[in-house]
Amino acid sequence: MTSGSVTSPVDRPAPVTADLSSWVEIDAKAYRSNLALFRRLAGHEVELSAVLKANAYGHGATAIAALAREPEPRADSFCVFTLDEALALRRAGHRCDILIFGPVGRGRLAEVVAGDLRLALFDIDTLAALEAAAARSGRKARVHLKVETGTRRFGFDAEELPSVLARLQASPAIVVEGAFTHFANIEDTTDQRYAREQLDRFRRSLDDIARAGIRLARRHAACTAALLTMPETALDLVRLGIGQFGFWPSKETRLSFRAAAEAAGATTVPTLRPVLTWKARIAQLKQVPRGAYVGYGCTWQTTRETRLAVLPVGYADGYDRRLSNQSWVLVRGCRAPVRGRVCMNLMMVDVTDVPEVAPGDEVVLLGSQGAQEVSAEQLAGLIGTIHYEVTTRIHADLPRLVV
Ligand SMILES: *Cc1c(COP(=O)(O)O)cnc(C)c1O
Repeated sequence: MTSGSVTSPVDRPAPVTADLSSWVEIDAKAYRSNLALFRRLAGHEVELSAVLKANAYGHGATAIAALAREPEPRADSFCVFTLDEALALRRAGHRCDILIFGPVGRGRLAEVVAGDLRLALFDIDTLAALEAAAARSGRKARVHLKVETGTRRFGFDAEELPSVLARLQASPAIVVEGAFTHFANIEDTTDQRYAREQLDRFRRSLDDIARAGIRLARRHAACTAALLTMPETALDLVRLGIGQFGFWPSKETRLSFRAAAEAAGATTVPTLRPVLTWKARIAQLKQVPRGAYVGYGCTWQTTRETRLAVLPVGYADGYDRRLSNQSWVLVRGCRAPVRGRVCMNLMMVDVTDVPEVAPGDEVVLLGSQGAQEVSAEQLAGLIGTIHYEVTTRIHADLPRLVV
């Protein structure tokens, strides 16, 4: 699935990846298939917002944004964490709505207004500074109130909400376009009680907001797992993160979704298709004798005469050092185990059993090759984290190629 179909600058005849030592490929078909599934689940009345924070979970925000805004299927808007992420999307030509989840420094609130961006509002000091920025520019600032319902992250408590609402009613420069909350315990469990309590609290706050005379265009709570397992959380807008990239938020989410689908009489349960493949090329091959040590700290000693491949990828690229002597890569459709410690920019793998392996061969660090797969979930399992972290940490400087 490489070479010929890579979208890239057209000024070179050879496949662009021939000169790359490590890169990420984004499978456009897989992305469209995932987005179409979530569009079906959300329906056409609900705003489907693609969450592109952290470089689109490591997939490449610009590449994913372009795919998400193709005509069909299409995400309606974006969510990001930082102002700079939002501005980068504007620079890439995206005019759609963009919600910023995270804090924006007071000195930069004018850029939020000028960029016609949506801002998550979760503290009064920001509100005052935002009013001033909007007044200075003569434009309105659009905010989505973050409501605390049980995650204890950002958000106004139910008790502080009345004073915030009073303040907002007296702020002609601020448009309260939305209100939202975020679930604490929806992907790690098949038990929905905590999420239901949060949804109830959110509904009560929405009632308070309506009683204060504020008409909200967008009420939202759902992340991927919420849309999959509690469709009633979709409300006016769904914040779709991990699912668009072809990952289930967790095993529990997959099981809950499947159980609900089967109970509803579905004969086939939709599948998600991972979008990302992380690749590298073999930089060098070497033959080492039996009993030789490999890498820093001499943590691996060969038990046979071994053919080693040196890969130009290390922990600086986001390949976790705790995968040393633990994981494997795919070469010519075979599994090649990582030997010795992962270095800053390099790692060694055992290719003794890979027939006809050659320098320059393409290696899959994460993703599928032939019938074999190295999944983000597997790598996450080896180092005690979640797949979200594994893909997010792939260095932003590595090229992202849409294939
Ligand atoms: C990251 C994030 C999401 C998306 O969550 P997924 O589980 O990846 O779908 C939604 N809402 C907020 C506030 C987030 O921070």
